[in-house]
Amino acid sequence: MRAAVLEAFGAPMPVRELDLRDLFAHEVLVRTVAAPFCSTDWLGWRAMRGRTPPVVLGHTALGVVERCGSPGGTRGYGVGDLVVVAGTPQCDECFYCGIGRPDQCALLFESPEPVIAADHTGRPVRAAGGVGAYAELIVADRRQVWRVDSSLPAAQLSLLGCGITTGHGAIVNVARVRPGESVAVVGLGHLGLWCVQAARVAGAGRIIGVDPVPGRRATAAALGATDVVDPAVHDPVEQVRCLSEGRGADVVVEAAGPELAVQQAVAMSRRAGTVVLTGVQWTEGRISLPQNALAIHGRRILSCQNGQSVMSRDLRRCTDLLESGEYDARPIVTAEYTLDRIDEALYAAGEFRDLSGVVTDFRSTSVR
Ligand SMILES: [Zn+2]
Ligand SMILES: [Zn+2]
Repeated sequence: MRAAVLEAFGAPMPVRELDLRDLFAHEVLVRTVAAPFCSTDWLGWRAMRGRTPPVVLGHTALGVVERCGSPGGTRGYGVGDLVVVAGTPQCDECFYCGIGRPDQCALLFESPEPVIAADHTGRPVRAAGGVGAYAELIVADRRQVWRVDSSLPAAQLSLLGCGITTGHGAIVNVARVRPGESVAVVGLGHLGLWCVQAARVAGAGRIIGVDPVPGRRATAAALGATDVVDPAVHDPVEQVRCLSEGRGADVVVEAAGPELAVQQAVAMSRRAGTVVLTGVQWTEGRISLPQNALAIHGRRILSCQNGQSVMSRDLRRCTDLLESGEYDARPIVTAEYTLDRIDEALYAAGEFRDLSGVVTDFRSTSVR
């Protein structure tokens, strides 16, 4: 099968012909239909996420089940079904799945990235996050695969396995936004824009989008932000406070990653407000915060991986919201790429030109 392979950090990812290994009983083979490029993959490419080359990046995808390692155990899908290969599995067996927190599933955090193939020199090739979506075929753990019932365009549905469920979950599962609350979203990349839409659907009053990129602010306004703030022009903390009666927002979601954005997110929340942290600039990053704001002011500072989604519950809800038009993926899918143009998708994401660039054509034009 053809796959874009990260062979050295920060270098172009050539498309190679790989020798796929046989499936284990707990795995399924999925033919990739659409694979979004995400900031997680950008970090992986820049050696900021503990990947080991050679590796196939791409941590979520939409595809069609081609083969199952063994009959049974596939949780409601079979050969020929349209599925999401999610960025976060739900094994239903580990401690975290047992307490209703599959966002911390042991399968994701406690198992090594699987070797899925060998390259032309015989070297083992791993799949990032157990997915490896920038490839014609995906070898996935069956507990990471969910059936999707929708005829919306593939590029839009491919966002269900990461951005949509994470943004939805940040607002609904983690912050638990109530009608009328003010919500500020720091960082209006794809994740921030899903948070804006989820806040609107949750009935938030004021929704304040914060981002230095003008096009992103415009998209946020079109998707439901009542106010947008340019942090490059004037202190965003002061601007958000001005928009929330001088107190600060009831809920702030940080969806950018840099330390400054996290510090600003905490500072622009009101006392006893809620701050949801979703961004990571790199896995070894450190944040310094004022102790008073943390200990005395009664804030809820909440960690958010995959929106604390329970995919068996939230995937259907998010699909319904897409189907009804309440969640709109059209402005977020800003480009579609062939697999051979994966490097263009990578640079467009890194330079903030794409919101979600999606690889939707895996046919061969050349093999390097
Ligand atoms: Zn992602
Ligand atoms: Zn688990």
